[in-house]
Amino acid sequence: MSNVPVAVVTGSNKGIGFAIVRALCKQFPGDVYLTARDTSRGQEAVAKLQEEGLHAHFHQLDIDDLQSIRTLRDFLKEKYGGLNVLVNNAGIAYKVHDTTPFATQAEVTLKTNFFGTRNVCTELLPLMKPYGRVVNVSSMVSSSALGGCSKELQQKFRSDTITEDELVELMTKFVEDTKKSVHEKEGWPNTAYGVSKIGVTVLSRIQARMLNEKRKGDHILLNACCPGWVRTDMAGPKATKSPDEGAETPVYLALLPSDADGPHGQFVSNKTVRTW
Ligand code: NAP
Repeated sequence: MSNVPVAVVTGSNKGIGFAIVRALCKQFPGDVYLTARDTSRGQEAVAKLQEEGLHAHFHQLDIDDLQSIRTLRDFLKEKYGGLNVLVNNAGIAYKVHDTTPFATQAEVTLKTNFFGTRNVCTELLPLMKPYGRVVNVSSMVSSSALGGCSKELQQKFRSDTITEDELVELMTKFVEDTKKSVHEKEGWPNTAYGVSKIGVTVLSRIQARMLNEKRKGDHILLNACCPGWVRTDMAGPKATKSPDEGAETPVYLALLPSDADGPHGQFVSNKTVRTW
């Protein structure tokens, strides 16, 4: 078993995830894993970094596929005895003008952005080593979508006592409500991506609380963040930040020094804690 520190970035064959891997290859003192659902896209991305003189390792990971997550988990356990840095970056978004029915968009978007990310956390958080760092890439859209929720939902999503099961129930209810076309009547905003990212931010707050309760002495720091508006296939060419600039806040959170006691359980953008 290797004692080398290890970092994993989900959905990192392109976009912000790729830029996070590039930055970690330069700054993280250990093995960095670029992961992708498609092996050839992932290996091409590793080769691209190689041309820049950077060495990333590759492992397949489709966050929609529990078996794929568990295969990575077993690999990390066996080869490294755990994990030091986890960046949950993988995500999807329908284009604004996409004509796919809203209920389908809701189901598909929540499946990856919320349920997939949660499954990765369920399988990999127990592997986090002391002083580990976990970064869940959410979005400022989670804040604006929160503002578009009913007062009752806002109260639940801001609660300091909401449980993971209750959050899962709410995310499931959103998808069910869109199928019955009652989501607006039920207090939801009209954005599947926004609700999925509310899920990621609130999940991060809950997970940080659980770490405080169960593993306080391990000094693990876990946060949600927004990378900013970044020129990728998701956000398009008009966005204001380059992928390398978009990687800055996630990488800052991934590399918080071992004597840092925060941020933890926060929503961070431009390296600054935001009010949720
Ligand atoms: P992107 O260029 O579309 O890249 C998304 C990455 O996620 C791709 O590598 C994609 O793989 C991967 N992915 C999607 N579904 C996956 C799955 N089931 N399993 C594993 N990987 C999967 O988007 P991006 O702009 O870099 O976005 C990265 C993250 O930042 C997302 O969580 C996004 O919501 C968030 N974000 C982006 C912006 C922005 O302005 N760009 C703003 C706020 C937040 P494939 O190549 O196989 O599709």
